[in-house]
Amino acid sequence: MTGHVLKFLGETKLELGPTGQAEGNWRTARDDNNVLWLVLDKTDSSVNTISEEVIRELDNHIAAAEADKPAALVIRSAKTAGFAAGADISGFETMTDKGAADLLKQAHGVLDRIEALPCPTICVVHGAALGAGFELALACDYRIATPGASFGFPEVQLGLHPGLGGTFRLPALIDPTDAMTMMLTGKTAHTKRAKSQGIADAVVEERHVAAAVTAARTGKIERQSQGLKFRAFSFDQARSLAARQMRSKTEEKAPKEHYPAPYALIDLWEKHGDDREAMQQAEIDSFAQLLETKTSKNLRRVFFLQQSLKEAGRGEDGIAHVHVIGAGAMGAEIAAIAAIKGKTVTLGDIQTDPLGQAVKTAAKICEDKHLSGIETRDALDRLMPDPHGYGLAHADLVIEAASEEQEIKEKIFKGLKGALKKDAILATNTSSLSVDELAAAVPAKSRFAGLHYFNPVSKIDLVEVVKGTATNDKTASRLAAFCGATGKLPALVTDYPGFVVNRALVPYMLEAMVLMDEGVSKEVIDTAAIRFGMPMGPVTLADQVGLDIGLHVAESLADSLDTAMPPISDDLRQRVDKGELGKKTGKGFYDWSDGTPHPDADMDNATDDLTDRLILPMLNACVEVLRKGVAKDADQLDAAMIFATGWAPFRGGPMHYAKARGTAEIKKRLTDLESAHGPRFAPDPGWSDLG
Ligand code: NAD
Repeated sequence: MTGHVLKFLGETKLELGPTGQAEGNWRTARDDNNVLWLVLDKTDSSVNTISEEVIRELDNHIAAAEADKPAALVIRSAKTAGFAAGADISGFETMTDKGAADLLKQAHGVLDRIEALPCPTICVVHGAALGAGFELALACDYRIATPGASFGFPEVQLGLHPGLGGTFRLPALIDPTDAMTMMLTGKTAHTKRAKSQGIADAVVEERHVAAAVTAARTGKIERQSQGLKFRAFSFDQARSLAARQMRSKTEEKAPKEHYPAPYALIDLWEKHGDDREAMQQAEIDSFAQLLETKTSKNLRRVFFLQQSLKEAGRGEDGIAHVHVIGAGAMGAEIAAIAAIKGKTVTLGDIQTDPLGQAVKTAAKICEDKHLSGIETRDALDRLMPDPHGYGLAHADLVIEAASEEQEIKEKIFKGLKGALKKDAILATNTSSLSVDELAAAVPAKSRFAGLHYFNPVSKIDLVEVVKGTATNDKTASRLAAFCGATGKLPALVTDYPGFVVNRALVPYMLEAMVLMDEGVSKEVIDTAAIRFGMPMGPVTLADQVGLDIGLHVAESLADSLDTAMPPISDDLRQRVDKGELGKKTGKGFYDWSDGTPHPDADMDNATDDLTDRLILPMLNACVEVLRKGVAKDADQLDAAMIFATGWAPFRGGPMHYAKARGTAEIKKRLTDLESAHGPRFAPDPGWSDLG
C-alpha cells in the first residue's frame, strides 16, 4: 500500500502508510508528523452516515491507535457532500429497544476511547456534521471547521434526542442553555455561530487545514473552557428552574402528547446534568425507549417518504436555462431558487416594478439560506430581469407564473409559438386551472405540464409535477429532475381539480368557514386543528394563503368536481370584495397589522367532534384522489400532504393516520356527519377498497 496517494476533499494529500487501508468505510494514513488520519468514506454512498459497521471499523482503528500511539489523531470526511449526515436511520428499523441499548453502549465505548486517547484528537469538518456525525466530532479535543461547515442535532425531527453522547458532551462544551436549545429545536449552527458558541475551535480555508491541524497538535489553538454557566448548572435548583422554562417554551411548539422526545431530553438534563456517568446511561435508555414510540416510528416513516420523493427527483434534467414568466409572489421566488441552485434564469413580467422587487427577494432568500457573499453574488448574477423576453429563445424550460386567469395564460402560450427552442419544456404554475384545458393553447402539448409550487416557494419543498393527458413521460421526468436539482421534492400527479394538495385542503378550509357561520369562534376552530397536530389552523391558513386565492381555488373546485363541497360562505366573499385578503393586506379573518394574528383566549371548546369535522373531509378527499389515480399511491399522497402543508408529521400522513385509526371507523364517522350536516360528508366510495 505504501506509495499510494490518498486523495480526499481539499488539497491535503497523504501517503498511505503501513497501517493504511483504503478498504471498508474508513481510509487511514500516517503523515510525516506521525499524525494518524482517519478519513470517513462510506462505501456505496455519496454521503457519510454513521452506521453500525462504521462504528465497528472505527473501533478497530482506535484500538490500533491505542497500540501505536500516534502524535495526534485527525478525523475527517472524504465526501464532497460534507462530514456526516447523522446515524444510519435504516439501521433503527430492525432494532428492538434492548438491541438498540446494547449497540449504543458499544458505540459510546468507542467514542469514550477517542476522548481518552493520550494524543490530541482533532475533527476537521466541512459541510454538515449532524446527529451522530456531530457527536463523533464532539468526542474529539478540537473541531476545525472550514467555511460553510455547520453543526446540528436534528434528532427531534425523528422523535428522538441525541443518543451518542451529545446530551452531555455539548452542554459540557458550550453554554448549556444554548446546547439544550440546539438539541430541543434541531436548529443548525452555521460556521460563524458555531465558532462564536465555541463548537468550532477554529475556522480555516481548506488550504490551511494541514497548518491548523499542526497548530492544534502543538497546543497553539486554545481549547474551549467550561464557562461560568456550566458551573452554575451543576446546582439542581438552577437546572430545575431552567428546565421549567424549557418545558413551557417547548409546549408552545411541540405538545408533549405528540412529541415526547424534547421532554425526555429536558428530564435527562434536569435529573443528571451534574453527573456525566448517570447522564450517559440515562441517555442510552431514554433513546432506546423513544425509538419504540409511535411518534418516532411515524417521523422516521416521514423521513423515508422524503427519501422516496428525493429519489423521484434524481436524474438528468437537461435544463441549464430557465425563463420565468411573471415576477409576482410565486415567479420571483421560483426564479430565485433556480438561480441559487445554479441555473441561468431570465425573468419576465409585463410590469417593471415586480422585476426590481424580484431581485430584492432573491437577495433576501440568499441571506435566509446563509449563503456566503460569493455564493449570493453568483446567484444574483445568474438571475436576469428580462422585460422583453429575450431569454425565451434560449430557455430549456419556461415556467409560466403569471396571474391566475385562463385568458391571460392562454394569450401568453399562444404568443410563444415559434419562440421557444426545439426541445424546450413549457410548464404552468397554475393552482386551479386545468392543465389539459390550458394545453389547447400551447405550442407543443407533449412538452407541456403543470409545475405547481407552494407559497412561499423558498420554504415549502413540495412541487406537484402535473402530467396532463398529452404530457410525455420524458417531460414529466425532466421536470421531476429539475425539482431535484433545485432542492425541491417532486410529487408526480395527474390533472385533477386542485391536483392533490389543494383538493384535500379546500374542504378543510371551507368547513372552517361554515363553522364560523354557525357561530364557532375562529380561535376555537384553529385550536381544534392545532391540537390534532396541524402546524396552523384552517382560518389562519386561509389568511396566509390569501382569501382571494382561496376563494378562487374553492370556486374552481366547486365548479369542476362532481363531489359535494362545503358551501362558500358569504363572509369570505364579502371580505374579498372589501379587500380584506388576509396576511398580505394586514387584515383577513384575523388582524395581521403587526405581521401576526393575536387569537383571543377561550380555547376550551375545541372538541374531538369539531376536529373530525375539519380533518375527516380532508381524508375523504385524499381517498378520492387515490381512487381517481391522481396520486401514485398512499405513501406519495402522505408525503405530498406533509411536505406541502406540514400535515401532522408525527401521525405519519393522512392515509397512515386513517389506517391507524381504522378505515371502517372513519367511514362510520363520515356517515354520521353526513346525517347531521349534509352530503358533503358522504364517504367516498374509495373507502371500501381500503378495507
Ligand atoms: P401575482 O399576482 O403575485 O403575480 C403575477 C405576476 O404576473 C404579476 O407580477 C403580473 O404583473 C404578471 N403578469 C400578468 N400578466 C402577465 C403577462 N401577460 N406576462 C408576464 N407577466 C404577467 O400572482 P402569484 O401569486 O405569483 O401567482 C402566479 C401564479 O402562481 C398563478 O397561476 C397562481 O395560481 C399560482 N400560484 C399561486 C400561489 C400563491 O399562493 N400565491 C400558490 C401556488 C400557485
